[in-house]
Amino acid sequence: MLTAEAAVGKIPEAMRAWALFGPGDIRPVRKPVPRPGEAEVLVKVEAVAICGTDLEILRHGLPALVDGKPPFDGRHVIGHEYAGTVAAVGPAVDEFRVGDRVVVEVHAGCGRCERCRHGMYTSCLNYSSRAKGHRANGFTTDGAFAEYAVNHVNTLFRLPDHIPFDEATLIVTAGTALYGLDVLGGLIAGDTLLVMGPGPIGLMAVACGKALGARVILTGTRESRLGVGRQLGADEIVNAREQDPVEATRAMTGGAGADLVMECSGAPSALNQALYATKRGGRICLAAFSREPVAFDAAHMVRNNIYLYGIRGEGQGAVRRGLALMAQGRISGRPFITHRFTLDELPEALRTAEQRLGDAIKVVVVP
Ligand SMILES: [Zn+2]
Ligand SMILES: [Zn+2]
Repeated sequence: MLTAEAAVGKIPEAMRAWALFGPGDIRPVRKPVPRPGEAEVLVKVEAVAICGTDLEILRHGLPALVDGKPPFDGRHVIGHEYAGTVAAVGPAVDEFRVGDRVVVEVHAGCGRCERCRHGMYTSCLNYSSRAKGHRANGFTTDGAFAEYAVNHVNTLFRLPDHIPFDEATLIVTAGTALYGLDVLGGLIAGDTLLVMGPGPIGLMAVACGKALGARVILTGTRESRLGVGRQLGADEIVNAREQDPVEATRAMTGGAGADLVMECSGAPSALNQALYATKRGGRICLAAFSREPVAFDAAHMVRNNIYLYGIRGEGQGAVRRGLALMAQGRISGRPFITHRFTLDELPEALRTAEQRLGDAIKVVVVP
């Protein structure tokens, strides 16, 4: 096995990276290539996808506070949905070897707080405290809009050869969808799942819902996105411009409503629509939210014994399950990838994602 020292010989001293200097101000910099610590792995980034959260951080600096401050220090590197090749391993790492293909999980957590101990490491109580061991790659620690990124060993999975690196970037998205659907949502074969909002997470929820054996209804307004949902296996499509999603869902379920509703639109009206479209005793997962507080029919929720929960990221091993589904060919990253750019073209890639140029769904950046 190559030790870190042996492998380091092949690794350059410096690398290209993009650092945050201020809101909306991302610039190319040269940074030292990080050296893996005791339980860390150095990954050569082969593909990184742009996520809505990257755009959020770029504009507002939240939720990625680094030691309580926005990460606009001319050093911090974002980008968290990536896959690559192991370039070096730390002295205490025997789980991976140099040359292994890997895909990442974003959150390592601190490993010491109550939530991390329960597998809820995306809701770590020491979020952003490096001193207490917390890290979330591309959020509170450097991410992958760079040639190399260092990961704690607990945030890596070996990637089978038949999954291309660009498609593997969607495994993090699958992890987020699955976190809401399976362990927390209790979705089982035969259930009806309503997905509201055909963004990347909503569309991935459609694909994962089908992989888990659910009947899936997708609602949204953009015809092209709904078409992708159909391609991903949605059983029923409801264009909310033409049909009321609540009435349509009820009509499709004999009046009862969906067992699980995954709200991915963030529209202010979506919360009550989700409530009225849920079967008595069913569940609602909020994977998106509106910036303004919204009025909420609590009486309907209580009278109908409806469970409501939010998800943050991809906890409880969900990325591993997403990888399993992709490895078995039950989901694919391919239908999501609409644009590809090189690392040097990152600003154009970000603009394409932000303005959804050319109907962008997922924009992937390669070295
Ligand atoms: Zn993301
Ligand atoms: Zn923690």
